Amino acid sequence: MSKTIAFIGLGIMGLPMAKNLVKAGFTVRGYNRSPQKAQDLAAAGGQAASTIAEAVGGADVIITMVPDSPDVEAVLTGEDGVLANAKSGAYWIDFSTIRPDVAQDLAAQAKEKGLKPLDAPVSGGEPGAIDGVLSVMVGGEQADFDAVSDVFDAVGKTIVLVGPSGSGQTVKAANQLIVAGNIGLLAEAVVFLEAYGVETTSALQVLGGGLAGSKVLEQKGQKMLEREFDPGFRLALHHKDMGIVTSAAREAGVAIPLGSTVAQLVASTVQQGNGGLDHSGLFTVVEQLSGKTGQNGDGQA
Ligand code: NAP
Repeated sequence: MSKTIAFIGLGIMGLPMAKNLVKAGFTVRGYNRSPQKAQDLAAAGGQAASTIAEAVGGADVIITMVPDSPDVEAVLTGEDGVLANAKSGAYWIDFSTIRPDVAQDLAAQAKEKGLKPLDAPVSGGEPGAIDGVLSVMVGGEQADFDAVSDVFDAVGKTIVLVGPSGSGQTVKAANQLIVAGNIGLLAEAVVFLEAYGVETTSALQVLGGGLAGSKVLEQKGQKMLEREFDPGFRLALHHKDMGIVTSAAREAGVAIPLGSTVAQLVASTVQQGNGGLDHSGLFTVVEQLSGKTGQNGDGQA
């Protein structure tokens, strides 16, 4: 019999992921803090729940996809939250990106209540969520991972169990370090190319075919050229993730000098009121550093 899934958090990522689960044949009950998004899921063949309890009651699998560690904590341990309402033996998959230590702690609490926790942050952005081709880095037990492989297959393409609870979040922190660094250097390269009046679309095309090529260049290069920074992945969320990786690295005694510099640039972009931009909007601060704000490659406003 097909699994019943409770899906909590139907934002930029959660809604398309929940829709893909509906398409794969699961019964999906969605709950979101602002209720309209649950109606959007209902319109796509899912069900709209008006409380966490209603979504979670009797569900075989409970999914959370909310912004930050305190949000996951609230959804899980709140008075009317997941732990108070889930059936014993249900699987809890957290797709959110949160602190590894919080993931470990919540997994322990979930186990005490008879749940089977998997931290499973994703990478691939909104396009990956829509197309069901996310990379999913999973922390937890092998048997639990195997038991919900059909759920992972509906949202992802590269799905890897990387270790015990919390490990998925550690790998995701490394992912965010790499992506932010890539974005920062791509932004510097675009500002540099524009300063020399190079035809930037052609430049990015040829750079994309060599060792400088990357998914970041493919997905974010054109956005920078066009100064089009609709999210996507909000800078405020990447700021959160740079906080996660810098503090986790510090705790482990690992130096991340380049990552720390990019973290400061991300923080500055957010402080300037641009936290709602896509993370490619880091370009705005990189551009300012060279006094080029608001200019394109021709030096025109
Ligand atoms: P988002 O668009 O802000 O979506 C988060 C959703 O969670 C919103 O719909 C929000 O509802 C809901 N929510 C927040 N607190 C809640 C609560 N207590 N109960 C129920 N719903 C709640 O964020 P997102 O971009 O989808 O990101 C979600 C997570 O995935 C984050 O951890 C992020 O770092 C990670 N991630 C994002 C991307 C990306 O490209 N966007 C890629 C990989 C990973 P409201 O409508 O009320 O705000």
